[in-house]
Amino acid sequence: VHGHAIDRLVAAKTRAIAFDVDFSAPSTPKEDTAMTSSLARAGDAVILPTFRQAAKANTYDVFENMPIPMIKKHAFLASVNIQPDADGMVRHYETGVVTDHTMRPSIAALLAESSSIEAGNLTIDYSIDPATIPRLSYVDILKGRVPDRLLAGKRVIIGATAVEMGDRYAVPRYGVLAGVIIQALAADTLLQGSSLVNYGGWPLFVMALAALYISGRTKSTSLRASVLAVGILIILFLPLLLELSKIATLDASPALATLVSGIATLLITSVQRAFLINKTTDILTGLPNVLAFSLRERRKGVQIAAAARIQHYGEISLLLGPDQTAEWVRQIAQRLALMEGQGAVYRVEESALAWVFPHEDIEHLPDRFAAIAAVFRSPIIIGARPIEIALTYGVATGEANDPRTLSAQALLAADRAAEQGIAWDMHSDLHDAEVDWKMSLLGELDQAIINGDLWVAYQPKADVRSGQIVGAEALIRWNHLERGFIAPDHFIPIIEKEGRIMELTLFVMDQVLETLERWTLRHHSQSVAINISASLLGDSAFFEQAARRIVNAQIDRSLLVLEITESATLADPDQAIDAMTALRALGVGLSIDDYGTGQSTLTYLKRLPVDEIKIDQSFVTDLALSRNDQILVRSTIALAHDLGFKVVAEGIESAECLALLASYGCDTAQGWHIGKPMPIDAFNVLLEAPLAIAA
Ligand code: C2E
Ligand code: MG
Ligand code: MG
Repeated sequence: VHGHAIDRLVAAKTRAIAFDVDFSAPSTPKEDTAMTSSLARAGDAVILPTFRQAAKANTYDVFENMPIPMIKKHAFLASVNIQPDADGMVRHYETGVVTDHTMRPSIAALLAESSSIEAGNLTIDYSIDPATIPRLSYVDILKGRVPDRLLAGKRVIIGATAVEMGDRYAVPRYGVLAGVIIQALAADTLLQGSSLVNYGGWPLFVMALAALYISGRTKSTSLRASVLAVGILIILFLPLLLELSKIATLDASPALATLVSGIATLLITSVQRAFLINKTTDILTGLPNVLAFSLRERRKGVQIAAAARIQHYGEISLLLGPDQTAEWVRQIAQRLALMEGQGAVYRVEESALAWVFPHEDIEHLPDRFAAIAAVFRSPIIIGARPIEIALTYGVATGEANDPRTLSAQALLAADRAAEQGIAWDMHSDLHDAEVDWKMSLLGELDQAIINGDLWVAYQPKADVRSGQIVGAEALIRWNHLERGFIAPDHFIPIIEKEGRIMELTLFVMDQVLETLERWTLRHHSQSVAINISASLLGDSAFFEQAARRIVNAQIDRSLLVLEITESATLADPDQAIDAMTALRALGVGLSIDDYGTGQSTLTYLKRLPVDEIKIDQSFVTDLALSRNDQILVRSTIALAHDLGFKVVAEGIESAECLALLASYGCDTAQGWHIGKPMPIDAFNVLLEAPLAIAA
């Protein structure tokens, strides 16, 4: 039957004849011979198929199935393999196969007389409608019912299209097509030249990776965005361009997927980075903050941290306003960075900067800080205004390895340096204990008052000429259960700092007023002085509380004397004068304590409503030995008298000293030589049986 068809087609002068029909099994010898002679008559030019088949069941070995040898000899052989994609769709077509080292073109390639008959992958052009490929009935051809003109010059493929034959494949656009139609479409694709080499997804995928890599290495955000944008444009339009200009086809989907997920990753990491930058940057100055210090320096394993406390930060920042303050702090940080050379300077607190200290410099700390101090000797110019900078420094080293702890410790040391009036200090664990101790003291204050561990001692003051006891200074005492006696110089600064000095002072005042009331009843006319901290001067709450007590006391109010240290009046003299005038109006006496330790002159003190000055013990104690002190004390007493002050000398430890003071005309004497601070009962005994102390 096939031989007849060949004869008929040859007679109609077709251009080429190809069979998509299996000739791999022999028919009857007679029929095979008939077929062979038809092939021979056609000039051995008819194309017969070979197709790939599994060699055995359940193996991956394949072989190319051939027509039987007798037929094969008189025909062109071409493959008809169709290989669907993973999703079962046929999109590509092999233009040739190699089996057993033999190159074999495909039917489509042979029919299209294509030059590219070697093994290759062709994308079938499904824009060719299979319905436009003429289809003729095989029976009509055999029966001669097809006119020659429909066949002349045509390429003919013979194949089965019946559903029952099973040779059918899913394709894009057209649903299911018979294998022979796909062969025809492939041939037409080649004929129309719309066959493009398909390079698959790799080229664009590689390009996407390159775009991601380049953009990942690019610092500038806008440049990074442009690289990615160009990448996307290339991936979208290059395949179109190549296809339109019939060069090749490229698959863009892997590249797009890569790029999209890559961009998403880049975005997420950049948002993360922005978030971290935000969290680790000081808002006002833009300097890295304490979190940055902690994160970055922990990574490097910092061992030594240095910190600088900016003194008077509060006042200066008020004066400058936020913008200029930011500029000022930045410039301080810059100068520090300049000195320290490596690494950043962090703003770890509003008024504090920290940085990492080079390990090898630990022995040269004094030199190093001297050098830094030199750099800060010239003021910083902010808005044409020179701003002086006072910094105190602290250093902390140690196994504490957490940089945040180290910087906090360094800062603690810097603050201690400030308290001591020195330039820098070093943190040690001893100081930690000190802090603990200070904190626990505060917690125990109330209980100490209740228990009577906190009590008031009275130190006698004597009239220099008569030797009579004319009064006392009330001095607070703390007999701590565990720590024993704690000197007021130790706990008063803590109590002041923690804002509890008012309670303490009122406690002393209550005790003293009670004493004065009792003395009044006994017709004693001695005065008692109490010490008023600088921070209470001008504190209206304190004034109210004190005034209420003083006014209610059944005493001659001038017997209560308030001692105010000289330095307390200096910070804000006008406010001090107002506050002292108000106290004075209550009728109490006012005295300037520790005179000589501050910077004030007696003429300055004349502006204050004060009756008395107390020459500080540092000038008095060694008076007998020091010629300088003698000149100083003598002239001070003379001048004070000229200005109308009474003069008290404190710290008199010897008769010699007392004699000198008497010769200078000093009014009142206080010191161990007169009497040590003592409990009230002891003092009362002294009052009842006064021992005159001869000058
Ligand atoms: P201050 O007011 O100058 O008190 C005089 C200090 O000199 C007292 O020390 C006193 O005991 C000591 N002193 C007296 N005579 C001599 C002497 O001959 N030789 C020597 N070496 N020292 C002598 P104290 O009691 O330790 O008080 C120290 C400071 O604590 C006081 O200095 C005062 O500033 C403060 N203070 C004491 N009690 C109170 C208080 O109730 N309130 C406030 N705010 N401060 C107080
Ligand atoms: Mg005093
Ligand atoms: Mg004093």
